[in-house]
Amino acid sequence: MRVRRLSGIAAAAVLALGLAACGGGSGTEVDSEASFPAGTTMAKLNDAGKITIGTKFDQPLFGLRGPSGKPEGFDVEIGKIIAAKLGIPEDKIEWKETVSANREPFIQKGEVDLVIATYTINDERKQKIDFAGPYYEAGQTIMVLDKNTDIKGPDDLAGKKVCSVEGSTPAENIRTNYPKAELVPTDAYSNCLEPLRSGQVDAMTTDNVILSGFVDQNEGEFKLVGKPFTKEPYGIGLKKGDDKFRKFVNDTLKASEDDGSWKKAWEETAGKVLPTPTPPAIDNY
Ligand code: GLU
Repeated sequence: MRVRRLSGIAAAAVLALGLAACGGGSGTEVDSEASFPAGTTMAKLNDAGKITIGTKFDQPLFGLRGPSGKPEGFDVEIGKIIAAKLGIPEDKIEWKETVSANREPFIQKGEVDLVIATYTINDERKQKIDFAGPYYEAGQTIMVLDKNTDIKGPDDLAGKKVCSVEGSTPAENIRTNYPKAELVPTDAYSNCLEPLRSGQVDAMTTDNVILSGFVDQNEGEFKLVGKPFTKEPYGIGLKKGDDKFRKFVNDTLKASEDDGSWKKAWEETAGKVLPTPTPPAIDNY
């Protein structure tokens, strides 16, 4: 009511202040009262007042570095939700670019506190790191030029050049289960787009939602073919053995599903292109 009596500029300022107070774009309220048992990673991060999170910088919808210089997307919003619960506002999050192959080493070396980067939970990775989540489930699929008519699914990849990313589960799946396809590996998905346009490769493969982001970003150029042929549950990578931190992240994810912030994060990012899913059950193994 009071806002209505203010001039447009003053009202905008009040709004901006309001947004800043609740942690910025995500609208996630920073828990300024947050306190944690001494010695835990949560206490350490809360005391430091900052956190380093690894994410993708080249994947529309999940993690894409925008004009602001900061990454944007669903993974980024999930990161803001976790930071807020630790009492850390979004301007105190240091975003570090991770590509598929350096996620485990970044966590193991302590270069990042968390990785939230379209990161599939699997047993092989769990030997090196631990995962909270899953907070979303994707599936591997194939992207081709819009005019392509001969590739309709993974079995049509025999004798074809297929671009994917080293250190990713989709690349590994092609190597292992579709050995007749010629895998052309690179280090980040955006590097596959030019070769696909120029015909140096016939297809590109990774998770459906990553490919959907590229289809959306490059109108009329590309299309997805076939149904997803794997399950890619997305987890949040953290240091192996840090069970208290893993439980905290799992509890925070669960709370975000219950209080609507998970859904809001989705709708403001990936949800602009993709339907809103039901989040998968969290596995606090
Ligand atoms: N979700 C898959 C993975 O973690 C593919 C996406 C990616 O490489 O980030 O390997």
